[in-house]
Amino acid sequence: MSVNMKEIFGANVFSTSVMRERLPKKVFQEVMDVMEHGGNISMATADVVANAMKDWAVEKGATHYTHWFQPLTGVTAEKHDSFLTPPQDYKVLLQLTGKQLIMGESDASSFPSGGLRSTHYARGYTAWDMTSPAFVKEMTAGTILCIPTIFVSYHGEALDKKTPLLRSMEALNTQAMRIVRLFGNTQATRVFPSVGPEQEYFLVDREKYLQRRDLIYTGRTLFGAPAPKGQELEDQYYGVIRDRVGAFMADLNQELWKLGIPATTQHNEVAPAQHEMAPIYTMCNLAVDQNQLTMETMKRVATRHGLVCLLHEKPFAGVNGSGKHNNWSIGTDTGENLLDPGDTPNENLQFLLVLSCIMKAVDVHADLLRQSAACVGNEHRLGGQEAPPAIITIYLGDQLQHVVDQIVSNADCIKLLASGKLDSGVSTVPLLNRDATDRNRTTPFAFTGNKFEFRMVGSSDSIADANTTLNAIVAEAMCDAADVLEGAENLESACMKLIHDNMTEHQRILFNGNSYSEEWVQEAARRGLPNLASLVDTVPALTTEKAVKLFSKFGIYTPAELEARAEIMYETYVKVVKIEATTMIHMAAKHYIPAVIQYTTALAKSISSVSKACPEADLSVQRKLLTSVSDYLAQASCALEQLKPLMDRVDAIQDLKEMALTYHRAVIPAMDALRYPIDALELMVDKDIWPVPTYGDLMFEV
Ligand code: ADP
Ligand code: MG
Repeated sequence: MSVNMKEIFGANVFSTSVMRERLPKKVFQEVMDVMEHGGNISMATADVVANAMKDWAVEKGATHYTHWFQPLTGVTAEKHDSFLTPPQDYKVLLQLTGKQLIMGESDASSFPSGGLRSTHYARGYTAWDMTSPAFVKEMTAGTILCIPTIFVSYHGEALDKKTPLLRSMEALNTQAMRIVRLFGNTQATRVFPSVGPEQEYFLVDREKYLQRRDLIYTGRTLFGAPAPKGQELEDQYYGVIRDRVGAFMADLNQELWKLGIPATTQHNEVAPAQHEMAPIYTMCNLAVDQNQLTMETMKRVATRHGLVCLLHEKPFAGVNGSGKHNNWSIGTDTGENLLDPGDTPNENLQFLLVLSCIMKAVDVHADLLRQSAACVGNEHRLGGQEAPPAIITIYLGDQLQHVVDQIVSNADCIKLLASGKLDSGVSTVPLLNRDATDRNRTTPFAFTGNKFEFRMVGSSDSIADANTTLNAIVAEAMCDAADVLEGAENLESACMKLIHDNMTEHQRILFNGNSYSEEWVQEAARRGLPNLASLVDTVPALTTEKAVKLFSKFGIYTPAELEARAEIMYETYVKVVKIEATTMIHMAAKHYIPAVIQYTTALAKSISSVSKACPEADLSVQRKLLTSVSDYLAQASCALEQLKPLMDRVDAIQDLKEMALTYHRAVIPAMDALRYPIDALELMVDKDIWPVPTYGDLMFEV
């Protein structure tokens, strides 16, 4: 199959070059101006843009348009409206007006708002976000023109993930510009974060998926004994991609490329049936949109191939789960990456200042950063020896750590480690340059050359919150730095002092060792680093005095918006766990227990008929099996009986936070108590009577 990548790339995007071609020069200029510097476009201009957008979309086969936004559900929302105008004698015109482009009104009452909107103020508004290009999406429902928008309440409070993200980018821009100006950069007009999210996912066969209520309702298996083979042979990672999966990947790439998403890396991941896709990095807000589209496209393309794409953080117990490494850097519009240490980081004052600000930001707000990666699925992953622990630290690698150590100890002359050559011992292979910095897979926040890689984010989660937080905390540290340095008489010595002070004060956040070890957990506690194991432990971080001060200062979240987000976190936690527990009750009562009863009944009958036919036969194996199966069955039934009333009691709790904490403390262990005997039974009874596909079926038969 030959693919013309150049031709299809971005074909479905209403890009700047499409606008340049299709818009009158003056209109194009006005749009560019607002895109780059903010402000409002006139209604007359909006009308012209809307019409050009509609014509372009209709040529692509579009019949409808939608305001495409990212409510606090974490997924995207869309409502399609056709381009039809009222028919005249069965003739219609196709239309998109400037007003329709710029603003939409929608009933906000069915989206999570965390109390920001009382039901009698149900209005929510979507407003065109000109920083993200419009695009057409080809779906079975039709080809749809998608206009990226933000979503706010009647009073302008953010009801989505995009608004705070854009606000945080503005804050970072303002503060980082102060830093680059200090170092004499007069060319740059803007600083922005760039993000490249690596997306992990599982693929399973759709027919098998449809036989499991847990996968359908919760996206993960709630029961399942380990398959005889897991990931222990390490033969899946980077392994040859199976044909069916390969066909999915090829198809996915084309769909993503059409949407202008630069999908570039694809490979098998560690767990059986697990894979990864990474795009080339792009501007933060666009990366957030594109990651949402990527997840959606993955699901849609999988269906075409008779597969289901599982984005859950932990679809299967006992093998690795999925995450999203959020690669983040900050750069100017003139192409300078502020996180590029260059060849001599020891002499690069601006780099060291930025690094010291990031150390401060992450140390001061470790709780917030951890919170930003909290989602219900991630509960099963963080701290599970496959993903970073719940303790936030920074890994700098040997080279930069060495530089920091010397700065902290006031060394006269700061030296670099020699990087040296790497000799493979094979004479025909050239000597390679060895980085002075190795990799550390166990760390949550790693410096990887010219970017930081935040490894905690869940695979199903939007990357908006993590990036909003990162941008905000770094903006604050840069603001503090600029406040000190702008007034300094001798910039160089003031800067060196500030770098020294920041690094000294916040060096406890650096850790280069094995974050999976038990000793580290104790050492981290000694250092006073927060260890927020569960989502429910992280929520209070949103509303501390420190968080309110940070987010209010830069206008990223109002205190009310923070309260709302905290409430939604608890609410979502309760709802998700409740669906999981209810699904377990359903599966245990309707699938597993009846199947096991059938099995024991048949076994008992066969014991009695064999013993009748042959009284001297040794039936001890059958009897022992019947006894143990019956024991586990009783255990399962007892756990089931306990789970139901427990949930009723927890649901009666009035306070939402208390309810979430009790779900975590009491319901989760009760769910584990139900899972245990059923998984044991799966390994004892005939495969034929087992009512659902097993781990082996799901992970090895794709
Ligand atoms: P690795 O994590 O193995 O070092 P790559 O270097 O290929 O992998 O990068 C992984 C992701 O990081 C990709 O999405 C890539 O585009 C992105 N990335 C690379 N450089 C930067 C950067 N300066 N800023 C943000 N993301 C980046
Ligand atoms: Mg990586």
